[in-house]
Amino acid sequence: MREVVLSEQQLRELEDIYEKLQQEYARVAGALDFSCSGCPDNCCDSHFLHHTYTEWAYLWRGISQLVSERQQQLIARAKAYLAQCTEELAAGRRPQVMCPLNKDGLCVVYEHRLLVCRTHGVPATMTRPDGQTLCFPGCFRCQEMFESLNEQSPHVARTPLLTRLALLENELLDNKRHLLPRVKMTIAEMLVQGPPALPRPYGEKKTGASPEKK
Ligand code: SF4
Ligand code: SF4
Repeated sequence: MREVVLSEQQLRELEDIYEKLQQEYARVAGALDFSCSGCPDNCCDSHFLHHTYTEWAYLWRGISQLVSERQQQLIARAKAYLAQCTEELAAGRRPQVMCPLNKDGLCVVYEHRLLVCRTHGVPATMTRPDGQTLCFPGCFRCQEMFESLNEQSPHVARTPLLTRLALLENELLDNKRHLLPRVKMTIAEMLVQGPPALPRPYGEKKTGASPEKK
């Protein structure tokens, strides 16, 4: 197996996507006069799934900067999180369990948090490859504050930036995305599984392998 690692150029592209999304978020939040200030909730307990090796690798860039003991603590918390989610799902409930990376209300890897963590809150739209447009009404508080929001209301158009993320994912995976296991994971699963790794491409020799005998 080989670890999936973002090149410097890929890192810059991902960080630029995040930056542009956050600018869009700020534009919409400003237009709605919406902010998280005073919110009684913390949406880090939302049961989000994440879908790219790119973000999985980026998250682990943040985790690997922590000392080993801290990493192990977070992985232990992630295991406890998954056990709790399993119980909730078995009871037919959507899990609402605090993210293992949230400590005292703050994100332990704030600089490396994922796209959903950066964009949850205000309304957004996304057009899928099959042409269907999905509308996200925003977090519960946004929905409470703006009951009358409609398609013409300010919202983040995520499609152009998600398209860039999909292109980056393809590049990271050598255009073999369709051949690889799909990512559909919580942050806790990403922690427990460790950094993303893929089988070596067919025919690629392991570094340091003994030469084949004739
Ligand atoms: S990664 Fe950070 S911001 Fe995202 S849900 Fe977890 S604690 Fe919250
Ligand atoms: S995004 Fe919404 S639910 Fe989450 S902290 Fe902000 S206001 Fe609260």
